[in-house]
Amino acid sequence: MSQTHTDEPHGTGLGQRLNWLRAGVLGANDGIVSVASLVVGVAGATTDNAALLIAGLAGLIGGAISMALGEYVSVSSQRDSEHALIAKEREELRTMPEQELAELTELYRQRGLSEQTAHQVAVELTAHDALAAHLEVELGIDQDDLVNPWHAALSSAIAFTAGAILPLLAILLPPPAWRVPVTFAAVLVALAATGALAARIGGSSPVRSSIRLVIGGALALAATWLIGTLLGTTGVV
Ligand SMILES: [Zn+2]
Repeated sequence: MSQTHTDEPHGTGLGQRLNWLRAGVLGANDGIVSVASLVVGVAGATTDNAALLIAGLAGLIGGAISMALGEYVSVSSQRDSEHALIAKEREELRTMPEQELAELTELYRQRGLSEQTAHQVAVELTAHDALAAHLEVELGIDQDDLVNPWHAALSSAIAFTAGAILPLLAILLPPPAWRVPVTFAAVLVALAATGALAARIGGSSPVRSSIRLVIGGALALAATWLIGTLLGTTGVV
């Protein structure tokens, strides 16, 4: 699971959107790999269509809920701490406005303004919206731009589901003999594409990222297929 969007509290609007996009691509990867290895494992043991459909759907739903829950908890606790910081700042501005003005002046001085300019900026920003000025410079928080935990939960569930649909269709649509090879091929091609996309968004090497994902995905599929096949042929299931 990825929570890259929480890494950059000081990020610009564009940076945050890119982080969201990257988190979405990685969420889709989770859906592809976990449901693909699940259905390939079941396909190693049985050719029963109903068993494949049930296993795949259960994996999709369980995975999407688990992703949403993890994201909800993580974003909620981040938001709680941001709300606590905002409340503390508001209280400090109310009880000791002079120290807070001096603090804001000092922060602008550290950013390279002269004493006089820093003081002028601090005075004008304090008159305009003291809380917003302190939150931005001191804490890097924009009060109107806090991440909503429900949005985060919903988008990671959607990303996971979008990825999970691919192996589900790849295992169910072809005739039995073709199921596993078609799923392997579809998954590895999709992982190469999403790996390259995620790397491009994050500014790292697309080739290296694709190769890592394809090798990891191939190992996951091979392992579950092998286990499914062994269990199926030894008559355990
Ligand atoms: Zn302050």
